[in-house]
Amino acid sequence: MPSRRLHTRPPPPPLPLVPVGGGHNGLAAAAYLARSGLDTLVCERRDVIGGAAVSEHPFGPEYTVTSLSYVVSLLSPSLVRDLELADRRAARRRHRATARRSGIRLS
Ligand SMILES: Cc1cc2nc3c(=O)[nH]c(=O)nc-3n(C[C@H](O)[C@H](O)[C@H](O)COP(=O)(O)OP(=O)(O)OC[C@H]3O[C@@H](n4cnc5c(N)ncnc54)[C@H](O)[C@@H]3O)c2cc1C
Repeated sequence: MPSRRLHTRPPPPPLPLVPVGGGHNGLAAAAYLARSGLDTLVCERRDVIGGAAVSEHPFGPEYTVTSLSYVVSLLSPSLVRDLELADRRAARRRHRATARRSGIRLS
C-alpha cells in the first residue's frame, strides 16, 4: 500500500471576538472578554464610544446631557465591582475637578 503523506495546514490565527457597538453593553461585554484573555475588538460606527450614555450638547454648548440613559445607578453592582468602575468614577471626578480648577472645559 503506498504511503500517503498527510498535508496539514497550520491552524489559522485565532480571530478576535467582535462586539458590534460601543454602547455600555458592548463595552462591558468587551471588557469581560478581554479580561478572560480573549482577543477582542469593539466596532463602533460613530467616532465616540458610549452609545446612549455619551455626554453630548444637543441644545447648545451650555447643556451637557447623556443621549438617552441617565440612570447609571441601575448598573449591576457586580459589574461595577468586576470592572472597578467605582475607582474609575472617583478618578474621573478628581480629573474633572482638576480640569475645572484649571479652567479646562471637558465634554
Ligand atoms: C427613547 C429612549 C429613552 C431611554 N431612556 C433611558 C433612561 O432614561 N435611562 C436609562 O438608563 N436608559 C434609557 N434608555 C435605554 C438605554 O438607552 C439603553 O438601555 C442603553 O443605551 C443600551 O445600551 P447598549 O450598549 O445596548 O446600546 P446603545 O447605548 O444604544 O449603544 C449601541 C452602540 O452601537 C453602535 N452601533 C449600532 N449599530 C452599529 C453597527 N452596525 N456597527 C457599529 N456600531 C453600531 C451605536 O452607534 C451605539 O454606539 C432609553 C432608550 C430609549 C430608546
